[in-house]
Amino acid sequence: MDPCATEIAYGSDVFNEKAMREYLAKDTVEALLRTMNGRAPLDPSIANEVAHGLKQWAMARGATHFTHWFQPLTGSTAEKHDAFFEPTGVAETIARFSGKNLIMGEPDASSFPSGGLRRTFEARGYTAWDVTSPAFIKRHSNGATLCVPTVFCSYTGEVLDKKTPLLRSMQAMDRAVQKLMACFGVTGGQTMITLGAEQEYFLVDKRHWLARPDLVQCGRTLFGAPPARHQQLEDHYFGSIKPRVLAFMEDVERELWRLGIPAKTRHNEAAPAQFELAPMFEELNLAVDHNMLIMETLRNVAERHGLVCLLHEKPFAGVNGSGKHNNWSVAYDGKNLLEPGSNPQQNAIFLATLASVIRAVDLHADLLRASTATLANEYRLGALEAPPTVISIFLGDELMRVIERLEKGASAETGKTSKLRIGVDTLPPLPRDTTDRNRTSPFAFTGNKFEFRAPGSSQNCAGVCMVLNTIVAESMTVVADAIAKLPKARFHEGLQKIVQAILKDHRRVIFNGDGYSEAWREEAARRGLPNLSSAPEALATLIKPKNLELFAEQGVLLPTEMESRHDVFLDDYERKARIEGKVALDIARGIVEPAVTAELGTLARTLADAKAAGLTFGLESVRATAEGIGQGLDALHAGCARLDEALGTGAPADILRAMAALRTEVDALETKVDDARWPLPKYRDMLFVH
Ligand code: ADP
Ligand code: MG
Repeated sequence: MDPCATEIAYGSDVFNEKAMREYLAKDTVEALLRTMNGRAPLDPSIANEVAHGLKQWAMARGATHFTHWFQPLTGSTAEKHDAFFEPTGVAETIARFSGKNLIMGEPDASSFPSGGLRRTFEARGYTAWDVTSPAFIKRHSNGATLCVPTVFCSYTGEVLDKKTPLLRSMQAMDRAVQKLMACFGVTGGQTMITLGAEQEYFLVDKRHWLARPDLVQCGRTLFGAPPARHQQLEDHYFGSIKPRVLAFMEDVERELWRLGIPAKTRHNEAAPAQFELAPMFEELNLAVDHNMLIMETLRNVAERHGLVCLLHEKPFAGVNGSGKHNNWSVAYDGKNLLEPGSNPQQNAIFLATLASVIRAVDLHADLLRASTATLANEYRLGALEAPPTVISIFLGDELMRVIERLEKGASAETGKTSKLRIGVDTLPPLPRDTTDRNRTSPFAFTGNKFEFRAPGSSQNCAGVCMVLNTIVAESMTVVADAIAKLPKARFHEGLQKIVQAILKDHRRVIFNGDGYSEAWREEAARRGLPNLSSAPEALATLIKPKNLELFAEQGVLLPTEMESRHDVFLDDYERKARIEGKVALDIARGIVEPAVTAELGTLARTLADAKAAGLTFGLESVRATAEGIGQGLDALHAGCARLDEALGTGAPADILRAMAALRTEVDALETKVDDARWPLPKYRDMLFVH
């Protein structure tokens, strides 16, 4: 293959500036770019021309259909395709795609979760063009579709998707950042929130996947004894990538590059069969859309390679789960506010921003935790290889030393206040890169950004970042309001006092030690940090009065919208728990139990035959094995009955407990029953892709 081909194809399936200039009039391009960059609202009079150009561009690239592409509360993406062509008479068609088609869609979509925000008889949902994320072409084996990124709301205007609140939270951040920057005399710039989402995933051979109803229906294994060898040797992490996997990754990257998605890093992860793809960071809204496309591309391309990509947070018990590290930062006028500066002004802005984030995370740790609360992630968080459910901040040794000195700066005893004043050139140079990365922290400062590591691998980053933006916007506004009141003459001194006070009040959320340890759990409890270990508990915080107020005040979600989200997420958790319970019961009763019974029968016959043949040796061994399997069978049977009962009552906690107990019995039997007879592919088969 031509080595330059991929470079030439970069962004070729995106309606980017280059494509616009080719297909639209100059004035239209300028107007559209102003809207895309958030500097002007969309001018409806250009919609028809844009639609026409977009259609020409898409059809020239083989697209036959268009769709409004949106992100409902299911957490995935949704699309409903319409052909460009409309029949106009006998055997004639014209290609039609108007400005109206571009701006507004009415997919009906009455089956998406709304948490009671709409009833089916008035279920009309609308999609509206999100001009800030460019249209793109999605290719399938037999055609191509033009996708227009959109928001999704109800007839009465309530938000039904993940994108709208994300965009609103970005506006909230913009207001807060403008306010903060104005305190430092910097105005007229543009705020940009950035996100780099590292995506972890597993690959299994499709043949194994097809033979595992749990993987097919739940995305994770509900049973499976640990193999002798898994990740103990730590030989998979960053190991050389097997040719079959590499071929898959190369295909994925080519597809992503065509979509203008800057896939950058690829490597083996800690668990066998686990991998990671990291793109270069981008503007938040675009990065969120791109992450949704990355997940879809991983899944689709895997199929072509006879593989299945598992995005579930915990596909295999006993080895690492998959997360999605959200690297988040905020820039103003192209300058990263979380980049420690070399001059006093930059340092002061950095410290004010840092203090705002620390305050936000301490005050709203419950919301951050809630943003990661799904059934799948519950299996991963706190499993001693993933961040705990206690939210804390890691700052690293170097930054910690600066913070400590800054804190002490105010105390009269040190007598060194002048040395640590913000905004004057005596502030020690701030560390530019923290190399001492602590992988056990859920929320880590990594040099010039925060890395939120609790989110799960299958989650839409929109929900997570929407919460992060909202809490930081609130906090930054409070900080900016305080700074704005400072008398000019005592600005630096006052600013230092404000930062000191925040650090003092919120110091408890900073933790630089081992987040996986039991000692930290105890210490966190002593510090009064919330530990919401179950997802329903965490989700309940979404509807606490203080949080309803916060989201309303920041203009991100109304109380009714928060309540509907809470209901949708909780319902999703409960439904998934019930599905898993039923699948576990089906497998245990319909697949495992018959195999174990057959094994017992064989052993019983062997024993009878051996006795009849007058054998003296071996009889006791066969009997002992048969008894062991018989006991296991009884336990399995009883476990099934208990799970059945739990499914009858329907309480998720009971179902999950009964499932875990049943798993113990099944996994014990897996190690006893004749390998040739075991009816499910084993971990050792699935965890090593060849
Ligand atoms: P690690 O695995 O050590 O956490 P990676 O290099 O895999 O690091 O990922 C770091 C991610 O952070 C990348 O996606 C990168 O683009 C992103 N990133 C770097 N700078 C910023 C920033 N200013 N804002 C948001 N994300 C950033
Ligand atoms: Mg990372």
